Amino acid sequence: MEKEKLIRDLISGGYLKTPAIIEAFQKIDRQDFVPPELKLQAYSNEPLPIGHLQTISQPLTVAFMLELLEPKSGEKILDIGAGSGWQSALLAEIVGETGKIFAIERILKLKSMAENNLKRYGFIEKGIVKILWDDGSKGYAKEAPYDKIIAAASAETIPESWKNQLKVGGRLVAPVKNSIVVLDKISETQFEEKEYFGFSFVPLVVD
Ligand code: SAH
Repeated sequence: MEKEKLIRDLISGGYLKTPAIIEAFQKIDRQDFVPPELKLQAYSNEPLPIGHLQTISQPLTVAFMLELLEPKSGEKILDIGAGSGWQSALLAEIVGETGKIFAIERILKLKSMAENNLKRYGFIEKGIVKILWDDGSKGYAKEAPYDKIIAAASAETIPESWKNQLKVGGRLVAPVKNSIVVLDKISETQFEEKEYFGFSFVPLVVD
């Protein structure tokens, strides 16, 4: 499948809607984030193995989650589970030079892979993306609070640290078991929650 066909399918299926997100899907090439032997499959709408028992997320799921996240130019976003770096690159393209993406990955080799994949876009050199080798289940307190938080690995429940590290008025989009949960932080202690059922994710490893 070709890139344009995948994007058309995601638009006609109602998954991709926002011009800035569609543009990011066009500019950031998923081929640059899959292993060499899987380049021909880069535009099929499925997760693909990236080694270490992990996958680059399915385009449909990434489109759906980014539309829920509503990332905007200039925002500071925490991205948990950097994996191949594809979603971090999409986010970087959307937040632009005035924004900042902190992406956490617990597997060192994947952290390096993400950095390598991101190199051709210059996002790290420009200071838009920082990939951290750490346990993201605790969030990343050092740079908190965040406008938005997104996770690519499925938790049993949303960690309290993520809720604490979100700005009031901010939004968190994360997989919980086989659902995608959206939390809006409406005050220091109050959250509004929505749940979308029927997805699958690699597990969030809590050490
Ligand atoms: N957005 C990535 C998705 C990768 S899959 C992409 O499109 O390529 C999810 C990733 O979460 C895996 O790389 C896995 O190693 C990572 N992960 C799982 N538990 C984690 C944790 N506690 N902290 C940081 N990363 C974690």
